[in-house]
Amino acid sequence: MNLTGRCACGKVRYEVRGEPLVTMACHCLDCQRTTGSAFVIHTTIVESDLAITGETEMGLAPTGSGKGSELHRCADCGVIVWVHYRAIGVGAIAIRAGTLDDPSLVTPAAHIFTSRRPPWVPLPVGVPAYDEGPVRAEVWSAESIDRLNALPPRDSS
Ligand SMILES: [Zn+2]
Ligand SMILES: [Zn+2]
Repeated sequence: MNLTGRCACGKVRYEVRGEPLVTMACHCLDCQRTTGSAFVIHTTIVESDLAITGETEMGLAPTGSGKGSELHRCADCGVIVWVHYRAIGVGAIAIRAGTLDDPSLVTPAAHIFTSRRPPWVPLPVGVPAYDEGPVRAEVWSAESIDRLNALPPRDSS
């Protein structure tokens, strides 16, 4: 899978040089707030697989873990292209899949924090859904868990 994407103005462009770890749709209120929409689609990748050009800025948003999430956005148009949840502790980040050149290339393996979603948002049949966070062993492939566990700690300070 060759994933490429960009911000709205096109000054920030990226390519994912490796297989993604997992894709999930998150319905939590933080994701609703930072997208201005009903849910986000996050494709989690190894950070070193991201090749990105153009200037980005980082914002730090509060999260349920208390450790915060880094929101990396285009310095010009302000679109958030990728995020890092500091609670994960290692170099894994999430691409905002709506910024992919072809968002249909990824499919959520699970829907999470679904208890926060508005009642008019349906959930797909046959896809795992969790009221709160996911059970990693049920959603991630064994290979992706191994790759995550092999990553060195990430210094977020
Ligand atoms: Zn831009
Ligand atoms: Zn969320």
